[in-house]
Amino acid sequence: MAAKQACDIIVIGGGSAAHEAAVAAREAGAERVVMLEKAPKEEFGGNARYSHTGFRFAYDGAREIREFLPDLDQKTFDAFVMPAYTRENFLADLTRVTEKRIDPVLANFLVDNSNAGIHWMKEKGIRFEHEKSVVVNGRNYFEPGAVILPIGGGLGQLLKWRAIADSLGIEIRYEAKVCAILGSEHAVEGVRVLTPDGEYDLHARAVICCSGGFQASAEMRAKFLGPGADFMRVRGSKHDTGEVLNMLIALGAKTAGHWQGAHATPIDAAAPDGAIPLRDDGHGNSANRYEYKFGITVNALGQRFYDEGENKHSYTYAKTGRAVLAQPGALAHQLFDATTVKLFRQGNYVGATMHEANTIPELAKMIGLAPEILVRTVEEFNAACDDKIPFDPGNLDGKRTSGITPKKSNWAVKIEKPPFRAYPVTCGVTFTFGGVKIDTRARVLGVSDKPIRGLYASGDVVGLFFHNYPGNTGQTRNVVFSRVAGREAAARNG
Ligand SMILES: Cc1cc2nc3c(=O)[nH]c(=O)nc-3n(C[C@H](O)[C@H](O)[C@H](O)COP(=O)(O)OP(=O)(O)OC[C@H]3O[C@@H](n4cnc5c(N)ncnc54)[C@H](O)[C@@H]3O)c2cc1C
Repeated sequence: MAAKQACDIIVIGGGSAAHEAAVAAREAGAERVVMLEKAPKEEFGGNARYSHTGFRFAYDGAREIREFLPDLDQKTFDAFVMPAYTRENFLADLTRVTEKRIDPVLANFLVDNSNAGIHWMKEKGIRFEHEKSVVVNGRNYFEPGAVILPIGGGLGQLLKWRAIADSLGIEIRYEAKVCAILGSEHAVEGVRVLTPDGEYDLHARAVICCSGGFQASAEMRAKFLGPGADFMRVRGSKHDTGEVLNMLIALGAKTAGHWQGAHATPIDAAAPDGAIPLRDDGHGNSANRYEYKFGITVNALGQRFYDEGENKHSYTYAKTGRAVLAQPGALAHQLFDATTVKLFRQGNYVGATMHEANTIPELAKMIGLAPEILVRTVEEFNAACDDKIPFDPGNLDGKRTSGITPKKSNWAVKIEKPPFRAYPVTCGVTFTFGGVKIDTRARVLGVSDKPIRGLYASGDVVGLFFHNYPGNTGQTRNVVFSRVAGREAAARNG
């Protein structure tokens, strides 16, 4: 028999959703809150550890953002272009990129609580800095809705949350793997924990599940995400292997979100599988290859295969990895010329795997393509560009191609000035979209549509998104639903 222990609230996981839920529960009066993190202490923190954790939220404009950047000098801030990002903007983005499949009740709840969520983080002691921008004529243009991130990126955020949790007396147990959920579709009473020293049962009046997605399980990816998905490379935590999600489903939890869907991005083809390090400046993962909108991308046959300029980065990068995965060998090359590489945002592509040549045939040979085919692809693309439409790197400029498939809808500038560069990319998986169904009180619903008593969830374990997602919505979803989950769990009696 496993030994028995008790506490008030159990939080499964050690990522940002888990920390936020634990702090919210403690703030709402729960006395003994215990977080169970499967990873060892030196690897704690789930996906956020490998992310710069930008936040998308509704805000009033530059004046409100200024509150998050108190130390920035006024001259720098005056050059920022930051119009309001309204709840309608956010909701429209969520609805459009998920192809209207997102649950409208949860989407509205997320949008309406996004602003309060980030202000709560600030009140709790998280400090922020501004995102990178595209500089045009001395003015800084940001992706609307996603303009700030915690200082120190994801790891900075996690270390701060951990200090806050410690100061509130929240206990974090490492190498504490949840291996069973105690209860049924009616109610949950606790969990069984596997540690290097053995097993024990931990009972509580509520369990908040923040155990992440299943992206680090090649087997589950192959099972749910479709052909080739086991070849995806994991960008974040290798501990997000989906066993808790499977336990919840076995218990009777209802599922939601896109079970064949995942956030997947183009990453350096030489990147490792799992735990890809952050950049030195904390601004994103070192393997991210997100400047494709200024060039063209070709597959191993030398052909273009998607609209590289369909929309701003935020609205395309999370689905572009899947487009790369579908190519022969799950490989592609992003091509730029000497003019377009100058448009990369500061610090991007530093240390990237790269090939450079003075002619397209030479470049083709370097990357193993038939020179005449790559020359034809580039010539066709250049001929389809329209020099009369002005180029505007900071905005959707409508500078589109005509007469080729696939089209390029914006930023279609010719690839003509040597030296030319090729950056090989593959598909990196960030997190999965299929998960459990929750309501606006973060209660996990059973297959009968009734809440499973005592069970709450937040983060990637929740099924919410479909097809794609507007960049930086994951962290916002975490804070919004973790706050509710913590409050609701703390308020639960018996
Ligand atoms: C490279 C990268 C960049 C990203 N950039 C952004 C961004 O800029 N903005 C944004 O909004 N989102 C971003 N994301 C996505 C975002 O980080 C995730 O959506 C978010 O971190 C998920 O939080 P979570 O707490 O639900 O899951 P995770 O952070 O993955 O945490 C899950 C936790 O559960 C633990 N766990 C798993 N199984 C068990 C078990 N059996 N028992 C106990 N513990 C268990 C894990 O060890 C981990 O601590 C990025 C992700 C990556 C990988």
